[in-house]
Amino acid sequence: MIPTPTLRVISENYLQIASTPMFRVAGKNCARIKRIVTQFEYWLHGYLGASTLPPKDGILLIDIDLNVNLNHLDGAYIINVSATEIMITTDGEQGLRNAFASLKQLIHRALTFQQGKLETQFIGDNPAYEWRGLHLDVSRHFFGVKEVCQYLDWMAALKLNRFHWHLSDDQGWRINSTRFPLLTRKGAWRKEDDGSIYGGFYTKKEIKEVVKYARSLGITVIPEIDLPGHAMAILSAYPDLACFPREFEPLTVWGISEDILCAGKDATLSFLKELLLEVAELFPGPYLHIGGDEAPKHRWKECPHCQQRIRQEGLQDEEELQSWLIQQLQQTLEDAGKTLLGWDEILDGNLGTQPIVHVWSGDGKDAARKAAANGNRYIISPNKLLYFVWRAEEDPATPGAHGVTSLEKVMAIKPREYEFGDGELLLGGQANVWTEYMPDFATVKKMLFPRVFAMAELWWNGQCEDDLPQRIKEVESLW
Ligand SMILES: [Zn+2]
Repeated sequence: MIPTPTLRVISENYLQIASTPMFRVAGKNCARIKRIVTQFEYWLHGYLGASTLPPKDGILLIDIDLNVNLNHLDGAYIINVSATEIMITTDGEQGLRNAFASLKQLIHRALTFQQGKLETQFIGDNPAYEWRGLHLDVSRHFFGVKEVCQYLDWMAALKLNRFHWHLSDDQGWRINSTRFPLLTRKGAWRKEDDGSIYGGFYTKKEIKEVVKYARSLGITVIPEIDLPGHAMAILSAYPDLACFPREFEPLTVWGISEDILCAGKDATLSFLKELLLEVAELFPGPYLHIGGDEAPKHRWKECPHCQQRIRQEGLQDEEELQSWLIQQLQQTLEDAGKTLLGWDEILDGNLGTQPIVHVWSGDGKDAARKAAANGNRYIISPNKLLYFVWRAEEDPATPGAHGVTSLEKVMAIKPREYEFGDGELLLGGQANVWTEYMPDFATVKKMLFPRVFAMAELWWNGQCEDDLPQRIKEVESLW
């Protein structure tokens, strides 16, 4: 199983899986629970129907008891397989979803390798960390609703519960705004070197569709609007928001742009506040990611508006101007009931304790330590270890860039080494899928697997067990 359960005791008997499943549910049997059971039932019928079970008919009894309190982080569950039935005990929707995710793997393994014989066993399972995430950059390359929903399915099957959706960058703006329509009219399309037009965006209806689907899988969606840097797509639509307006285009090359949003102009501030509130309205989850990374300050140093803002607010320098900007936006989001997330550069300057720091620099230790010392909650995705845009193999012909992050390297991460202070501030971690070198969804899948198996195990279990490569072979055809 992946992730490996917290506790698993296998005994010598076995349950013969039969072709007709039957479900019995006790307690909290509301519409939402019914929907989760029906979803699994649908999968199971299809799966068993397509399988070549031995010629023994009969009923596969799955008993579900929701009348308990497991006293763990949300998502804990117990599975007890006896010779006559499978018993699931859990305290809510998330635990039931996770139990079914495990059961899919158990049944798959039994049917594929053991003629439908499932070992009798006890599984007591609960997550080590509440934040188990996966990110997808849809700016560098765009992926439609169908592909995003497929991505969410992959996540749910690994008990991942936070989808970080990178919706804006220098190379494309991807979310339709009623208030600022030029963002998609201009910022969603770029002219490639060969003259072709590349791009796309999600309508509000499509965003809601994805959010609803994620919710049905127990996944919270975190939208990211990257600012004040990585903003060339925004500036191509609204060039007056730059320090020195000129005609901008969404970039066709990867990297960092010198032109960023002007923090001195009142117009930029009101634009950003209105825009973030419009975006926030589409996402019922409690978080909004504002980026805050890789924002060179050359323009701000020369800009009269930015320099005036620095004087007027009594700020030290351009770094403090960035944290001033973040504070303004944080206040706006807080008033709207949202928690701000930002990449670890938001720690430069005066950051309050409310925002969540997204650690990415280097191996992540320094930024994690700094976030904990500042009293911020934080999540871990070090670029050297959990950026799946890095090549998975040494071979320079394999896709990716920057360096090599092999499966073994991901497996070797020790989440506990990121716990500083009393350890309470570390929420968990995620992998980031930057798509500069992933022009199509098949390449995304290739870059994701098998490394995502290790990543999921780390944040569910607190560590990765050495036998992971063997377990991958047993279940990977489910993805
Ligand atoms: Zn400026």
